Amino acid sequence: MTKSHNSFYESLGVTRIINGASWITTYGGSLMPDAVVEAMNEASGWFVDIHDLNEKAGEIIAHTTGAEAGLVTAGSAAGMVLQAAACMTGKDPAKIWSLPDTSRMKNEIIIHRGHQVSYTHSYRAAGAHLVEIGSVHSTEKWELETAINSQTAAVAYVYGPRQSGALDLKEVVDIAHPKDVPVIVDASAMLPPPENLHKFIDEGADLVSFSGGKGLLGPQSTGILCGKSELIQAAYANSAPNSSGVARAAKVCKEEIAGLITALKLFVETDHQLVAKNWREKSSHIVDQLGLIEGLKIELIEADYSARDSRLNFASARITFLNHWSGKSRDQIVQSLEDGDPSIRLGVSTYDQSISVLPVCLQTDEEQIIAERLKELLSS
Ligand SMILES: *Cc1c(COP(=O)(O)O)cnc(C)c1O
Repeated sequence: MTKSHNSFYESLGVTRIINGASWITTYGGSLMPDAVVEAMNEASGWFVDIHDLNEKAGEIIAHTTGAEAGLVTAGSAAGMVLQAAACMTGKDPAKIWSLPDTSRMKNEIIIHRGHQVSYTHSYRAAGAHLVEIGSVHSTEKWELETAINSQTAAVAYVYGPRQSGALDLKEVVDIAHPKDVPVIVDASAMLPPPENLHKFIDEGADLVSFSGGKGLLGPQSTGILCGKSELIQAAYANSAPNSSGVARAAKVCKEEIAGLITALKLFVETDHQLVAKNWREKSSHIVDQLGLIEGLKIELIEADYSARDSRLNFASARITFLNHWSGKSRDQIVQSLEDGDPSIRLGVSTYDQSISVLPVCLQTDEEQIIAERLKELLSS
């Protein structure tokens, strides 16, 4: 239950929003369970050797993911910088020092054109050059085979919203590994389902990056990197506390490590079927309450874990504004939702005229507030 007062935010004049847009950094990501906040609080009471803490935390990540090794990162985007850096420099201190200048090392990362999302900037941030293959609709194996050359540092594989046109991860691994090229996976928004903690590792990925501050409910500024020991060691060498690495700017503090590891343990213990059922109920509440409205397509989108689409890791409610809709425009409605009290933020599509209620961050009964407000706006 959301507390009705928050003295800190109120003292700044910052107001609460209802987050029907999912684990979005712009809206604060996620809310940490009490046990996570308590672990962070407790961790703040001691000095510890950060190498020691990272090593022990890494062992827990390795155990949980089935990977050889793990590392807590400053968010999954930082994990992607580290993936690129690790594959380009290995543990060579001269190469680590020269990043982001990659002129004297393997510096090409192959990526499916359909996997180009804004976050792939993080690969370039380490100094890598992205080499695109395929089209957004399809990619042939030979396109990957011929793109691999002596400058190839890695093949990237991105699980984002609405991904299409890529080879399967297993196919990529089968082509890359015989040529000694590692495969790095951006699985930032792929938790839940919990099976994904080890799925991509099982399929042969060399490094996998997850967000800690999305469905894992850890600190917003954390993430998990897991994979081959050699590469995790290389990633760590590029990272804080080493002050000469490209990811020194993505430092993780002891409290965040404590929070992430606690969140990971809670995540593994969670009854995810129950959580998914609750999300589906909130989504169908919206669909049922709105009923039939002329000019709108109102539908329940079911979760589909087999899709390579992070948006389908939970059920949601989608409202599409059709051509014959005669009410306020989609964007006017989004603005009115935002301007209301409490302010409501939903998923706003950039590729069609739809809005989605993504239920994963909704607190108790907030779906009712959203349904009421939508009914008002869509009937006026
Ligand atoms: C959220 C996301 C990221 C970034 O993750 P952070 O933990 O916020 O740094 C990268 N890639 C994809 C596909 C994402 O959804």
